[in-house]
Amino acid sequence: MDVVANKLNVESQAIAEEDLVREKRRKPILRPFLKTVAPWLGGLFLLAAAITIVDWALGWHLQVVARAPTVFAAVYVTNLIRYLVAAGGAFLLFYVLLRRTGWLTPIQKKLAETPDMRREIFYSIASLAIFAGVGVLVYLGKVAGILQFYYGGNPLGQFYFWFSVVAMILFHDAWFYWTHRLLHTKVLYSKVHRIHHLSHNPTPWAAFAFHPVEAFVQAIVLPIAAIFLPMHPLTVVFWMLYMTGMNVFGHLGFELFPSWFLRSRFSNWHNTGVHHNMHHRCVSSNYGLYFNLWDQWLGTNHPDYQAEFERVTAGCAESAIEEAD
Ligand SMILES: [Zn+2]
Ligand SMILES: [Zn+2]
Repeated sequence: MDVVANKLNVESQAIAEEDLVREKRRKPILRPFLKTVAPWLGGLFLLAAAITIVDWALGWHLQVVARAPTVFAAVYVTNLIRYLVAAGGAFLLFYVLLRRTGWLTPIQKKLAETPDMRREIFYSIASLAIFAGVGVLVYLGKVAGILQFYYGGNPLGQFYFWFSVVAMILFHDAWFYWTHRLLHTKVLYSKVHRIHHLSHNPTPWAAFAFHPVEAFVQAIVLPIAAIFLPMHPLTVVFWMLYMTGMNVFGHLGFELFPSWFLRSRFSNWHNTGVHHNMHHRCVSSNYGLYFNLWDQWLGTNHPDYQAEFERVTAGCAESAIEEAD
């Protein structure tokens, strides 16, 4: 099992190295972006158009079909605002304002360049369309009674509400770890996940920079959870706030936690900014999202993770870590 996992890790690392060589040649961004994204978004559009035409031709005039475009637009705009506020706010604060003060040590000495950020924004904005498509699926699932959402009362005072928030976060953490490991297998890495790994030193703009298939894998976690876990809409809001915060933090390029964070057993179960940044840099380790539990249990933390965290939080700019390139 370990031999197979090591082989897959070596393969995904080799593909990442090839990507860096290509990136250094500075190929145009728009063409590869359209080539990756257009077939999937075009397919999504054609599917929606076909369903609308069948609904009209057969005279069904289903309410769910009539409302789907509004749901799609509402989810897209909400997610776009979420992305622009969280990623844009972090970019302005850390890359424009604080960067000049020298108060913070970047995790990697060489920060991302403008074309990298442009690519991250292109893919993130395209991913939001996939998220909105899954939003329509959530709406359909709720109307069909497959997904369990409840309303009414003040949920903040209920024990079950807080249980559902924690359960959703734990489920997403496990879902992310295992789907992420799958995305690092040879075929899925080269066809899908490499898009996210084009960022060797990510910025907050990379928060949703996924291939459309990966965007779907990430978004579908909500309807899957809602089949088994009754949720109040505020459960989704709380989970999304934590998810967006951690996603931006993981791609920030700067560490925000204090130097003692990994030395304390009360906090070392939680992931840090260095953790996911190292995943982008070293590729075949540090797969977890929110918590360090799965990486600890499966032995997939980078062996120098803690040393690297200590180096960054001590303000030392020189890293001894060998990069995937
Ligand atoms: Zn990865
Ligand atoms: Zn990432």
